[in-house]
Amino acid sequence: MRRPLVMGNWKMNGRRCTAQSLLSAVAAEAATFSDVDVVVCPPHVYLGLVGDRLGGCPSIACGAQDVSAYVDGAYTGEVSAEMARDMGCEFAIIGHSERRTLFGETDGVVAQKFARALAADMTPVLCVGETAEERDAGRTREVVLRQIDAVFATCGARAFARAVVAYEPVWAIGTGRAASPDEAQAVHRDIRDAVARHDPEAAAGLRILYGGSVKAQNARELFARADIDGGLIGGASLIADDFVGICRAAG
Ligand code: PEP
Repeated sequence: MRRPLVMGNWKMNGRRCTAQSLLSAVAAEAATFSDVDVVVCPPHVYLGLVGDRLGGCPSIACGAQDVSAYVDGAYTGEVSAEMARDMGCEFAIIGHSERRTLFGETDGVVAQKFARALAADMTPVLCVGETAEERDAGRTREVVLRQIDAVFATCGARAFARAVVAYEPVWAIGTGRAASPDEAQAVHRDIRDAVARHDPEAAAGLRILYGGSVKAQNARELFARADIDGGLIGGASLIADDFVGICRAAG
């Protein structure tokens, strides 16, 4: 059985005081969602603060929102996977659609970052998903599988032996318009089948998260589907009650 996973992506939000109060509020409820793995991904500058606070709450882990495609060196402004690991990150979000669209990350760069996270002993969380135009053109499966295949091409047939995939339709992110559970389940199934063609063992154990306007109200129905193993949560992860509600829905 795959253990559910809920990840909160804080994106570029918050300050020290809000990070502390949000963490305290979530940690105070951690005992109520014991059958789910919970990860928070703060901005890089707050990783130390979050790590210190989570020291007293072993049931919540820390993740990075991104890592560099390079190893340590002369790359001003970058944060390496090794640095994030050193700060206690067990997970790294890779290829979020905001990185792909706003910062021009290609499938090749994303695959490089995925490889760096693995090499640093972290679990990469590969984000895949189609835009509204691609969906309207009936290209969802083609786009998502292309994004998965780019990682296989760089990292080899066992790429997903230690990884998570997050299916995040771009049109659902931050819009309040989530994919329906049926729609998401169909894409999750395609992703699992695609991984199974290279590595059946990894596919069976692979946690595939859904992301895109998940709220406490729709989480339970989404997570009930056979191939939806939890969620990657943006906006709702900044509100303690909402995030706790989503974690409970998964556990
Ligand atoms: C995200 O950006 O990964 C995301 C899922 O955002 P939201 O939950 O706000 O739609």
